Amino acid sequence: MPELPEVEVTRLGLAPLINATVYNVEVRNFSLRWPVNPNLKKILNSQKLISLSRRGKYLLAVFSNGCLIIHLGMSGRISIVSEKKIPLKHDHIDICFNVDGNKKILRYNDTRRFGAMIWTDDNPFNHKLICTLGPEPLSDEFNADYLFDIVKRKTQPIKSTIMDSHIVVGVGNIYASESLFLSSIRPQRQSKKIKKKEISVLVDSIKIVIQKAIERGGSTLNDFYSVNGQSGYFQNEHKVYARENECCTNCDGKIYLLKIAQRSSFYCKKCQK
Ligand SMILES: [Zn+2]
Repeated sequence: MPELPEVEVTRLGLAPLINATVYNVEVRNFSLRWPVNPNLKKILNSQKLISLSRRGKYLLAVFSNGCLIIHLGMSGRISIVSEKKIPLKHDHIDICFNVDGNKKILRYNDTRRFGAMIWTDDNPFNHKLICTLGPEPLSDEFNADYLFDIVKRKTQPIKSTIMDSHIVVGVGNIYASESLFLSSIRPQRQSKKIKKKEISVLVDSIKIVIQKAIERGGSTLNDFYSVNGQSGYFQNEHKVYARENECCTNCDGKIYLLKIAQRSSFYCKKCQK
């Protein structure tokens, strides 16, 4: 599943389309997670892409007449291809841009169709999917005071707390396990029993893990390819994720697997308390 770092890498890869004008839109399948606006072609034709930003795992493609909110869902991916490239089975949407006289196609592929492309005329930050999101993990707003204030009221495992997008966005399953290992905190520990000092280390660890994943081009085990078609390679550097029964990289212990809220969680009993 594409996580925040993959979405950020996608956003950076789409930068060549900024200031380009749309000359065609082709929707081959309107049924994504929510139906694609049937008038999308009419709406976007001749519009210039003004900016591309990101909020959580949502890409915000701002045009002069509104914003296209894009989510990659479980298996979505975006590539920039030439107009000669024949669409494949799951290539559902093409947005065709004129980039300084060259034709470039933003192509959306999604095998499972849990992704979304939602048009809004309003400020996208007021959209119901976006306005309730917690702070960005790399922002100053996400700090030890903020997180401690929340965890002291929570009885659920700390891993569930940091994976809640209303608390902080973008800490997916892989990054949660990796951040907790880096902080020496067991994923199943009750949130409210964690000391302020530990929360401070956890906040720093989340920032380090997410930043590193963005720098490495995103972490992907299966579905994600960055816009130039290269798969991310951060998975080779996981310390605990998907390493059940393997040796800990930090001690002579081994990595354990535990299900928390139906999600696989990995940790070292010796290193994490
Ligand atoms: Zn260990």
